[in-house]
Amino acid sequence: LNRRLAEFGTTIFAEMSALAARTGSINLGQGFPDTDGPEEIREAAVRALRDGRGNQYPPGPGVPELRTAVAEHQLKRYGLAYDPDTEVLITAGATEAIAASLLALLEPGDEVIALEPYYDSYAACIAMAGATRVPVTLRPHEGAYVLDLDELRAAVTDRTRLILLNTPHNPTGTVLTRTELTAIAELAVARDLLVVTDEVYEHLVFDDAAHLPIASLPGMRERTVTIGSAGKTFSFTGWKVGWITATPELTSAVRSAKQFLTYVSSGPFQYAVAEALRLPETYFDALRADLRAKRDLLSDGLERAGFAVYRPAGTYFVTTDIRPLGETDGFAFCRSLPERCGVVAIPNAVFYDHREEGAPFVRFAFCKRSDVLEQAVSRLQGL
Ligand code: PMP
Ligand code: GLN
Repeated sequence: LNRRLAEFGTTIFAEMSALAARTGSINLGQGFPDTDGPEEIREAAVRALRDGRGNQYPPGPGVPELRTAVAEHQLKRYGLAYDPDTEVLITAGATEAIAASLLALLEPGDEVIALEPYYDSYAACIAMAGATRVPVTLRPHEGAYVLDLDELRAAVTDRTRLILLNTPHNPTGTVLTRTELTAIAELAVARDLLVVTDEVYEHLVFDDAAHLPIASLPGMRERTVTIGSAGKTFSFTGWKVGWITATPELTSAVRSAKQFLTYVSSGPFQYAVAEALRLPETYFDALRADLRAKRDLLSDGLERAGFAVYRPAGTYFVTTDIRPLGETDGFAFCRSLPERCGVVAIPNAVFYDHREEGAPFVRFAFCKRSDVLEQAVSRLQGL
């Protein structure tokens, strides 16, 4: 393994899912739903397979039906108009979109600002591109994680090439506000930075939180690559269908990298996701309502068990502080949890460069059946 990748080892998600399987624990670690997405969308995939749509290499940028559906989705939801032929690229999940964007847009030595804690593939992809990550830490404050805009501004140097955003934010559940996004946009324009924004949890927002794509703010459309994924929105994480929307120049650049990573992404699933993006509003409302109830079920249970809980405004993760339980080391806590009570969680420290900042925080996923969450909550009461 080369020096660029050696520091990253095996992803925590694989490690913790293996631990859950080995110990027969309830897996609230890796974020994947335990109930598949809509039957009619599974049927659409079967139909595509049976009808021979996408069984051979689909077009490089993705099948036109899906590119059109993605463009319609961005227009209808956010008023963002993208040309499906030149401004949409289908990828193998958001993971490839992140990798291809960073590999295409970064020069060795460039600096990338990422909001810490950050999703684990960001650091690895920045490293593979030969660039340097510059974390700006979201800090807990009055029950939520907040971005210090002055710290963000201070992190920009002459070598900064792009800001890598993630909203709704994994693992903290923070949804960046219009005020925060406006400040980030002004900074990007003033310092002529690109923004790559990971919005895979765009539909998973609760209460009065609203998802706002930074590409919709003044001066941003031309400098932003927006990333989406069918995995989260439609509960098909195994299908690995994602996409980017961006200007023709940026889309073409990302496609240059994508063509040598996977060339194209799985064909039949693209047709099914095109149908999924056109599901009626009732689907999206029901998804949000279901996850909001599960957020509260798990958060209430974790509070009763003694955790300090950062109830998320978005995503399907809840971050907790284990210090009220008399614990300080999230790694040790997560490694002992299966034996102590048969539950698996993720230590947030893995999402930090400043590991000490993340040490006492632990993430639980709530995209699970209610009876599973109830069982987990009851197991955790004994801690
Ligand atoms: N970005 C974030 C913030 C995620 O949480 C995930 C999935 N866990 C991904 C990207 C990857 O998405 P996909 O499965 O579509 O590759
Ligand atoms: N995104 C999921 C999470 O944060 C896991 C994805 C993965 O295993 N790579 O838990």
